[in-house]
Amino acid sequence: MTAPPAGPPPPLDAVVVGAGPNGLSAAVTLARAGLRVQVIEAHGRVGGGLSSAPLTLPGFVHDFGSAIHPLAAASPAFRQWPLHAFGLDWIHPDAPVAHPLPGGRSVTLERDLHATADALGRDGPAWVRLMAPLLDDWEGLLDDILRPLPRVPSHPVTLARFGLRGLPPAALLGQTLFRTPEARALWAGLAAHSTLPLGTPGTSAMTLVLALLGHAVGWPFPRGGAQALADALRAYLEYLGGTVVTGVTVTDARDLPPARVTLVDSSPAVLLGILGDRAPARYRDALEGYRYGPGIQKFDYALSGSLPWQDPRVARAATVHLGGHAADIAAAEAAAQTRLHPRPYVLGAQHTLFDPSRAPAGEHTFWAYAHVPNGSDRDAQAQIEGQIDRFAPGWRDLVLARTRTTATQLQAFSPVFHGGDVNGGRGDLPGLLARPVPTPTPYRTPVKGVYLCSSATPPGGGIHGMAGHHAALTALQDEFGLKVAG
Ligand SMILES: Cc1cc2nc3c(=O)[nH]c(=O)nc-3n(C[C@H](O)[C@H](O)[C@H](O)COP(=O)(O)OP(=O)(O)OC[C@H]3O[C@@H](n4cnc5c(N)ncnc54)[C@H](O)[C@@H]3O)c2cc1C
Repeated sequence: MTAPPAGPPPPLDAVVVGAGPNGLSAAVTLARAGLRVQVIEAHGRVGGGLSSAPLTLPGFVHDFGSAIHPLAAASPAFRQWPLHAFGLDWIHPDAPVAHPLPGGRSVTLERDLHATADALGRDGPAWVRLMAPLLDDWEGLLDDILRPLPRVPSHPVTLARFGLRGLPPAALLGQTLFRTPEARALWAGLAAHSTLPLGTPGTSAMTLVLALLGHAVGWPFPRGGAQALADALRAYLEYLGGTVVTGVTVTDARDLPPARVTLVDSSPAVLLGILGDRAPARYRDALEGYRYGPGIQKFDYALSGSLPWQDPRVARAATVHLGGHAADIAAAEAAAQTRLHPRPYVLGAQHTLFDPSRAPAGEHTFWAYAHVPNGSDRDAQAQIEGQIDRFAPGWRDLVLARTRTTATQLQAFSPVFHGGDVNGGRGDLPGLLARPVPTPTPYRTPVKGVYLCSSATPPGGGIHGMAGHHAALTALQDEFGLKVAG
């Protein structure tokens, strides 16, 4: 007996442009609701800023974009999906963050709240007073903040506590709450993830979230490379019946297969191309004025050994904040908005101390970047490597190979990283409230059935998939009348 001739495939319900963490998350959310979904990705593999490759030498696996994943581990969406069944295995370093200081000392953010407090000496009680009330209800807090902001909170007391502490500039709160150089430096190193000058209102919010997640879920990373999380999302999507097409760049609506809804995991500029002349002038003007933060310049190293930290305790963490004292970090981050600072704040990751699968036996990788002005490709190697050398003198002798990635190369890789901005848009308060435009439902566009779902929508940058998840929930309700609990 021969099989009946295959008919045309049933029509799609949804197309997702872009397979970054937000596109994949949007697609999974739609597929879980029973929709027929196809993802279209420009690159040959999924992941976007969540991907890995042998960027230096054969046998060395480097994370092209994200390296450390507290937001992914805590993500309300990812946590409810069976990603472990599709290959995700979190590795937890002994400590979430190490922060070396001049003179061969260091301070660490520990998983345990009280162990951190002990390490902070006389600032320990202040650290506990700040964190403990938020830690009690961290899941409720994340539910409220990893979504569009102007919304009736489901955990108002915790959110109010968070708001009081999160609104001041990180530089001010750090100086007010802490007395020791260790606590102030630890706080400033966390605050610098915002890519904003530390005197910017609201920078304490991200600082608090990152510290809190260190205690609540740790700062883990996927075994084998960040790509493992992207691959797990893809595998789960395909298990749910979704499909993925790679190697296709969408530039306008004619590139898309017919479907009831389109979700765009890309920049506001790419969205405008897809909307074409269907975008009203007011919306077009607003998206054309979308603001970006500084870019980054990144180096990946293949090393013949592990980094020779002056303080060996720095090897207890995969994430290392290299910038010295709080005042030095504040100066470097303020400068990074417009120029290359001689001693930039460098964010480092040393995965292979905890995941030997990423390098040949006995050899190591190091991932490091510094903030630079948006779009600047001025070579920052001397400045970045000088900062590593301050705290791990002689480390250059271990370098087998290095690869530089500039701000322009990041944008060429994904338009979401415009000018090298890894957060997909400026993360100050106006940038969070109007992301990309000021409306309670920022995922919707004026064109029926088309949604933006990248980190240019709330809650912004980082690997959490929540922009994609909330965009998909909005589309499910608008176009299919499905109200799915978020
Ligand atoms: C160097 C670097 C380090 C980072 N470190 C961390 C970290 O340690 N932890 C963390 O949580 N976050 C980190 N981030 C941030 C994080 O990677 C991003 O916030 C996140 O990837 C944004 O996800 P996204 O889905 O919005 O966009 P992207 O990850 O950029 O994905 C968008 C995808 O869509 C595709 N695409 C776009 N336009 C089109 C089109 N027209 N047609 C077809 N495909 C298209 C792109 O190719 C890409 O694959 C880092 C980012 C970078 C670059």
